[in-house]
Amino acid sequence: MAKFVPDVTTNRWVIIAEGRSKRPKEAKAASNVNKICVFCPGFEKIPGTEVYRIPQGEPYSPGWQVRVVTNKYPITDFHEVIIHSPDDVKDFDRLSVEQVHKILTAFRDRFNFHTKNGYVMIFNNVGEVAGASINHPHSQLVVVPKQITLDSLSIEPVVNPVFETDHFVVHCPDFSQWPFEVWLSPKKRGEYFGQIAPEALADLAQVLPNTLRRLIKHLLGGEHFHPGMPMVAFKDGPAYNFYIYHDKDWYIRIIPRLVHRAGFELGTGLSVNIVDPADAAEILKEETEG
Ligand SMILES: [Zn+2]
Repeated sequence: MAKFVPDVTTNRWVIIAEGRSKRPKEAKAASNVNKICVFCPGFEKIPGTEVYRIPQGEPYSPGWQVRVVTNKYPITDFHEVIIHSPDDVKDFDRLSVEQVHKILTAFRDRFNFHTKNGYVMIFNNVGEVAGASINHPHSQLVVVPKQITLDSLSIEPVVNPVFETDHFVVHCPDFSQWPFEVWLSPKKRGEYFGQIAPEALADLAQVLPNTLRRLIKHLLGGEHFHPGMPMVAFKDGPAYNFYIYHDKDWYIRIIPRLVHRAGFELGTGLSVNIVDPADAAEILKEETEG
């Protein structure tokens, strides 16, 4: 089981989770046609315990549209995998709004189920450099005991807007630690993610894919570089993380993985962002939803 180790002077923690090293790694090439995917329909019995599905139905059988199973290689006592859809390839940017709505409904329901157990972190890793080990689109939920201090950002002021809807502002905060970092901030503040109203959840089902499409369209292929802008682009397909802030005054933070952290940053804890967030916002504003 995982061990939590504190650093006495900074009050930061590490989690030692040796079991994680046993998780299977898929080949980098998605073209490996003979592989079986344990998240695809037909293999329901192979991953962990099924805890949730949309629509309701016989556990471990096909017919699901979103499925949640326990992670066989957990970081903490509560670690779940949310399988986005039966489709092995399509993710948020290419799934229907209805399907994205179902995934977000699963996020909300599992968040609320686990709040009694600790801080609920929901996050998504896309691409090998972002830490994804299985290609089938999925997100994860990890519960961290409340006695552990987390080193997370509170919601940032809304500046450099990209676009807004009835319920959200999409923006690039001045305090962006990564190039093309984008935040989705609800207009209704002071809530936990689990308290999101149905109308806002429906809105988010459009806002999140819209934002990801803008990022992917701009950063993939590297065709549209702007004068005076550093060259940053996805090298091997989209690579990004996003997470839903676990605490009150929630937000979603999307971090494209375009750069590696180097010695200076590791040694100082200071981030060097090579793209001005104001420029990133202007570029993403122009990027039509493709
Ligand atoms: Zn699959």
